[in-house]
Amino acid sequence: MCLRCSEDLRIATFFPPTTTALKPEDQLCQPCRLVPPPFERAVAYGGYAGTLRSLIHALKYDGMTAIAERLGVRLADVLLELGDQAASVGMAWKDVLVLPVPMHAAKQKQRGFNHAELLARSAAKSLHARRSEWNPRLRIGMLERRRATASQSGLTPHQRRANLRGVFFVPRPEQVAGRQVLLIDDIYTTGATARACSQALRRAGAASVWVATVARPQRETFAAPQFVQIADDEELPMQDDVAFWDSKQEGFQLGK
Ligand SMILES: [Zn+2]
Repeated sequence: MCLRCSEDLRIATFFPPTTTALKPEDQLCQPCRLVPPPFERAVAYGGYAGTLRSLIHALKYDGMTAIAERLGVRLADVLLELGDQAASVGMAWKDVLVLPVPMHAAKQKQRGFNHAELLARSAAKSLHARRSEWNPRLRIGMLERRRATASQSGLTPHQRRANLRGVFFVPRPEQVAGRQVLLIDDIYTTGATARACSQALRRAGAASVWVATVARPQRETFAAPQFVQIADDEELPMQDDVAFWDSKQEGFQLGK
């Protein structure tokens, strides 16, 4: 797995466990190698498939908000590991801020809730019960979404990337300056949203940003989207924000 974003590197089959340890730069996926992400690490609890996918759907599209309670505890499971890793590299969490990826105000009003906020609330609560010394604090509104980015279909990769630029902002930078931040969302697809949010937070002075999502599509699903059934009314938060890196601009393209 990529050390930064947890992307499956598929190198296990080429490098038997007995070979010499890989160099750190060999343990990064191509996007992370070429354009290092503004977050320290991104981790997911599981694959975006089966039961986990059904649960996320039920939460978001059927309004079964109680599900966020369960999923938030699972998020806390991966955050516990992430926090220990942070401590092992001298970045021990203290008074860490737990921020959900914000939803545009109009969209949230329409839905009635922000699923990422419910997940973050539960995760922060569970984390506090298990690692009170980290003193995790849920904060809503420290990171905001300036405009909706729902309809990205039909845009070229470059336009998608441009469309996401400047969407996220920190209204009061002094609130995040020098702080460690845990960014919470339901799905991590290309990392475009995680990168955009993290960049806004780092520019506002955040000391470090750590990303945790409930699920992450498997590479197979990612590479063959034509096999994924998508309901007509389904929106793909991480995917409608997908900013495929323009191969011409950045020298690479995700999903290839
Ligand atoms: Zn990576």
